[in-house]
Amino acid sequence: MLKNYMEDAVDSFLPHMLKQYPDICRCELCVEDIKAIALNKLKPAYFVTHEGLLFSKIDEMTTQHKADLTSELTRAIDIVSKNPRHPKQL
Ligand SMILES: [Zn+2]
Repeated sequence: MLKNYMEDAVDSFLPHMLKQYPDICRCELCVEDIKAIALNKLKPAYFVTHEGLLFSKIDEMTTQHKADLTSELTRAIDIVSKNPRHPKQL
């Protein structure tokens, strides 16, 4: 099975990033938008899993990957928080 590791990385990084932005909307729509914007910019990191055996790739993530991830998530949070796709107060 082919898997894009970046998706998992975004999923696990985003909650930590959001803690730095206590005032922004974090509804499902905004969070999904943030992920989509960041993932569209990030280089995918595909790997193959065999028969349910999941390799832990977190340790193999390079410093460059982490830096890219942080900067793209910051950019995506900024974009979405300034232009949420719904009225400001839900
Ligand atoms: Zn929202």
